Amino acid sequence: MKYFDHAAATPPYEDVVRTVAEVMAAHYGNPSSLHKLGEESGRLLMKAREVCAAALGVKSGEIVFTSGATESNNLAVKGAALQYTGRGRHLITTQIEHPSVWECYVQLEKQGWDVTFLPVDKNGQISVQDALDAVRKDTVLLSVMHVNNETGCIQPVEELGRRLKKEYPRVIFHVDGVQGFGKVPLSLMDSGIDLYSLSAHKLKGPRGAGLLMVREGLSLVPLMSGGGQEDSLRPGTENIPAVVGMAKAIRLAKEGEQQRADLLNALRKQLIQGLAAWPELIVHSGKAAAPHIVHFSYPGMKAEAFLHMLEEQGFLVSTKSACSSKKAEPSRVLLAMGAGKAEAESGVRISLSEEHTTGDIQELLAAIGKSVDRVRRLKGEN
Ligand code: PLP
Repeated sequence: MKYFDHAAATPPYEDVVRTVAEVMAAHYGNPSSLHKLGEESGRLLMKAREVCAAALGVKSGEIVFTSGATESNNLAVKGAALQYTGRGRHLITTQIEHPSVWECYVQLEKQGWDVTFLPVDKNGQISVQDALDAVRKDTVLLSVMHVNNETGCIQPVEELGRRLKKEYPRVIFHVDGVQGFGKVPLSLMDSGIDLYSLSAHKLKGPRGAGLLMVREGLSLVPLMSGGGQEDSLRPGTENIPAVVGMAKAIRLAKEGEQQRADLLNALRKQLIQGLAAWPELIVHSGKAAAPHIVHFSYPGMKAEAFLHMLEEQGFLVSTKSACSSKKAEPSRVLLAMGAGKAEAESGVRISLSEEHTTGDIQELLAAIGKSVDRVRRLKGEN
């Protein structure tokens, strides 16, 4: 099987698997315990926090460990909205956010908050000016993802953050960094970003681990009640093996960022050039796209059926995002980009790893070609 679904989950680094197993076996002490074993676990936790903070270019006190980016995004959006209700009840996000952000805003809207969902252009990008124009006196929070998980479109979060903090410093800025980190350089320093979410399993780290960067001075209402762990923002005994494994994966992701981006960009270019051979495929590759995602639609063809044709030939890809691919609805992201229903129902996502070769891409293209031929034959027979 050839795996082309790295935006959904990545195979972990062998070193990370080893580290997680070692820490799990040897360092089972609870960091809240006052004895030696507890202190050892506490030191591992502190070290992991420092490593993550250094990779992100923030202070270690600004890192909150979570169970993954879904939790980080929930904590960021609901935590900020609830904490700062005194500032107002208006929130802003985009029409193309990941469900873990989108659903928070939908829920808050039902509970009485006023939410502006920013549109995107045909390439899937928001306008910085539209976002700034949407800010009102009572705006509390703005969430914009860095890289879209379906199309790979990069959002102008650096420019937006700089201008937002200059023009409206009191508006809190949240960025879901899951698909960008390690592939699309973004400096958090002086970025205007107050809250930034990451997930370890997208970066060859363990599943069930993530973090939220919370800028110093900002308060959030925690999602859960319990002990005082993670500065009371995320109560519950810390998952030390996963956190230590995640810190290693985040460090490696940051260190190899530019080299990885160059390798991926070359593979992506080869794939997009190859896809041009079939005019029935609509490739969504805007100007600003992340190097690891190629997304296309095959109008008239159900995405799931096409996915299974590729799977029969040994190639694993995605329809929409992994989190929403089991829902049979057309893609909200493609509809927001102006796609018709047939196009929005037939999106296929191929996501690459720097370990793929040009030979892998050629084989994948050959399998896509065979699938397209099969569909053409089937349509001809009807
Ligand atoms: N945000 C984006 C952009 C994602 O792609 C994902 C996962 O697909 C998430 C958030 C959720 O991450 P997790 O699986 O760690 O909850």
